Amino acid sequence: MRRNRFERAKAKRDSVAKERIGMLLEMAEKQALTGDLELADRYAQLARKIGMRYQIQMPKGFNLRFCRKCLHYLVPAKNARFRTSAGKLSRQCLVCGGVYRMPLKARR
Ligand SMILES: [Zn+2]
Repeated sequence: MRRNRFERAKAKRDSVAKERIGMLLEMAEKQALTGDLELADRYAQLARKIGMRYQIQMPKGFNLRFCRKCLHYLVPAKNARFRTSAGKLSRQCLVCGGVYRMPLKARR
């Protein structure tokens, strides 16, 4: 496919941004495992910001890791509760107490 120089520049920006997001999420995950939720949250927020800045499609399940109310990065069993019941997934943010439910079937 032929691309003009603007499209090429965008493709390059996007791939750099995607790489950064991947790295940040990996680092966030690592910090979450060692128990440093504050640092994990900071990395995750950075990843989210880069994604918004470049309007990149985020990895699958990415939005599930953020509280919709307080936007905290959610780490299962640490600051969030994930439960399934009656074909629904419910998750609770233990920072602000917000609960979100979604049917499991609708999501691939
Ligand atoms: Zn919250």
